Amino acid sequence: MSNRETKTDVILIGAGIMSATLGTLLKELVPEWEITVFEKLENAGDESSNEWNNAGTGHAALCELNYTAQKPDGSIDISKAIEINEQFQVSMQFWSYLVNSKLIRNPQDFIMPLPHMSMVQGEENVAFLKKRFEAMSNNPLFQGMEFSDDPAKLMEWIPLIIQDRPSNEPIAATKIDSGTDVNFGALTRILFDHLKSKNVNMKYKHSVDNIKRASDGSWELKVRNDRGNVERHHAKFVFIGGGGGSLHLLQKSGIPEGKHIGGFPVSGIFMVCKNPDVVAQHHAKVYGKAKLGAPPMSVPHLDTRFIDNKKSLLFGPFAGFSPKFLKTGSMFDLVTSVKPDNLVTMLSAGAKNMSLTKYLIEQVMLSKEKRMEELREFIPNAKIEDWDLVVAGQRVQVIKDTVAGGKGTLQFGTEVINAADGSIAALLGASPGASTAVHVMLEVINKCFPQHMKEWEPKIKEMIPSYGLSLLENLDLLHEIHTSTAETLALKEKELAYS
Ligand SMILES: Cc1cc2nc3c(=O)[nH]c(=O)nc-3n(C[C@H](O)[C@H](O)[C@H](O)COP(=O)(O)OP(=O)(O)OC[C@H]3O[C@@H](n4cnc5c(N)ncnc54)[C@H](O)[C@@H]3O)c2cc1C
Repeated sequence: MSNRETKTDVILIGAGIMSATLGTLLKELVPEWEITVFEKLENAGDESSNEWNNAGTGHAALCELNYTAQKPDGSIDISKAIEINEQFQVSMQFWSYLVNSKLIRNPQDFIMPLPHMSMVQGEENVAFLKKRFEAMSNNPLFQGMEFSDDPAKLMEWIPLIIQDRPSNEPIAATKIDSGTDVNFGALTRILFDHLKSKNVNMKYKHSVDNIKRASDGSWELKVRNDRGNVERHHAKFVFIGGGGGSLHLLQKSGIPEGKHIGGFPVSGIFMVCKNPDVVAQHHAKVYGKAKLGAPPMSVPHLDTRFIDNKKSLLFGPFAGFSPKFLKTGSMFDLVTSVKPDNLVTMLSAGAKNMSLTKYLIEQVMLSKEKRMEELREFIPNAKIEDWDLVVAGQRVQVIKDTVAGGKGTLQFGTEVINAADGSIAALLGASPGASTAVHVMLEVINKCFPQHMKEWEPKIKEMIPSYGLSLLENLDLLHEIHTSTAETLALKEKELAYS
């Protein structure tokens, strides 16, 4: 036991993209507030935010088919895609502000322009894609989207996927050049380096073991330090940004808003190719359609990635089951997350999702050759020696009781859970995730600091000009933002310096 005790304004638990974003926003809004970050690992951005643990898609809903469902009357509902696109534009504006303010030196250290494409096979799917294209391409948010089912055009767009394709099955794709590949690990590290230079107290190898309300209304954290000793730290505001670790910490806080909530872990595996001859033949993120019974986050996609100054290809993710809530977590995470208050919720979810669990367990068992078969649906002549398996990050999907779904409904989005007095907030869930971190962290700020919003609004608007506005309803602003963010973040397609 250590006698060390501190008091601070803000404690951020976890050094992932969410805490990095919240810390950066708060430092811009109230530079004088003292912030401490506790991270149990040695470095920032080593869990889900790490570049090898997620797909790095700047989710602007340009290519993800699960955001555009087909309605029973056959029409395509693009409302979810609009919502996500608007949220991504918030991130783009904030990142541009950071570049313009010289807080980020070189945008290409974390973001690269990359066409986003959707690709489907079979008559029915091609008809769906065409309808989706018609619904989206007239919308200003998705300007520049092209559709083709012409093999020659497709060969030009995606040679690796089209060449040596044995079947004559109809195939079609949409392409939009304003997509991005984002290195969220690099961005996380850049933001924490900046925060450190602003005197934010970064405590690595410090694991938060417990959180409890102190008698003065602040929060007391029990933290195990890098020498294994226990320290106590107090803060007026705590953000639980522990990724998969957030649920346990939220439960420990005991706030009523955290009751009746559970978590369902979904693991992932990618296949990676670094063979320069193969890599050179592909330049896009190409999203397909999820297999029957597969959860939406396991939609297969073949992505060009820019990591460590090199271009590589990533395919997946193959979803799987592991009871861990973090990649570096414990096999007991799932079991220990079941509490008397969420037992019924969890049991109901278990009963409802037997087929999903079976699907995930089957996925874990897949041999590399079986995974190659799925890859060959994208790249017909893919060679096993060119591809390696990489274990991706863990996602913990929120389980809660909802009016629409009843007890124990599995959620696929992110949820901010906060105490009524705004003194503590947690982020649960993982999708669309890092891409919308700025929007989600502004939600945390709104919910937890309502008394400051009037005073902070001018600065927020300086950082995010569209704050509080719909871009779709303000087309001049949309055009201005599209142009200025593309320029500031250097997102005009050009000869890439990467090999
Ligand atoms: C397979 C996969 C693919 C994905 N693809 C995309 C994508 O293409 N685009 C996208 O936008 N998003 C994607 N995501 C989601 C995205 O990665 C996450 O939403 C995002 O990284 C979450 O950030 P975070 O800061 O909440 O969590 P994390 O990055 O996981 O950070 C949480 C941190 O908290 C620390 N921690 C946990 N518990 C404690 C504790 N008790 N004490 C101290 N520290 C603690 C952890 O060590 C970790 O460093 C993907 C996720 C996965 C798993």
